[in-house]
Amino acid sequence: MLLDSYRHKGMRKALCQEIRDKGFSNEKILKAIDKVPRHFFLDSSFTEHAYEDKPFPIGEDQTISQPYTVAVQTELLDVQKNDKILEIGTGSGYQACILVELGAKVFSIELNRILYEKTKQLLAKMNYYPKLFLGDGSLGLPSFAPYDKIIVTAAAPKIPDGLMNQLKIGGRLIIPVGKGEVQKMICVIKQDNELTESSEYGSFKFVPLLGKNGKPL
Ligand code: SAM
Repeated sequence: MLLDSYRHKGMRKALCQEIRDKGFSNEKILKAIDKVPRHFFLDSSFTEHAYEDKPFPIGEDQTISQPYTVAVQTELLDVQKNDKILEIGTGSGYQACILVELGAKVFSIELNRILYEKTKQLLAKMNYYPKLFLGDGSLGLPSFAPYDKIIVTAAAPKIPDGLMNQLKIGGRLIIPVGKGEVQKMICVIKQDNELTESSEYGSFKFVPLLGKNGKPL
């Protein structure tokens, strides 16, 4: 059963404060983090730790991202109400719910069938309905393109070919890029079909993006 208690709500407030203390100040995003019960996304052995600012295992050798990382990636996306956003790497579904709370129309793709099935069931129980897909997101999700924004929540060795073509002009892609343990967070803005502007935002640690345009399976 999914139970959200006063204790959990208090722990969420403390988590938001911890994220603020790290220098993050976007209150719209903090409000979404305050609203989404992160303990629902973790297996029972980790629920006591759900409001620590850390990544945790979600099975299948994958992780739910650290809340601070979710906050930073979400801020870089510059989410506007009704933005059509593609998330690559659904995982637990936590990031997708944060985007839904911000008013985005979320399309999220996951490669791992077990996580895809588990997350679909969980989100329906929580009354969150992003559009979830099973498949290789290293190719994007061309059948529903173009998107206003794309967020990748796994580390890509390089920006996958073809993703920029799935963005609208003026759209942005947020993606951790790097082949080693640590990656750089990259924000690419598509100015027109030829031109892009890209900036780097600090170092983060993600599990690898697998698939055709990621790490070979
Ligand atoms: N956004 C997730 C959340 O909120 O829990 C965290 C994602 S986890 C760090 C990375 C996810 O990317 C894993 O679930 C993994 O199975 C998935 N993944 C890796 N390669 C992928 C690919 N080519 N297409 C789609 N998902 C992929």
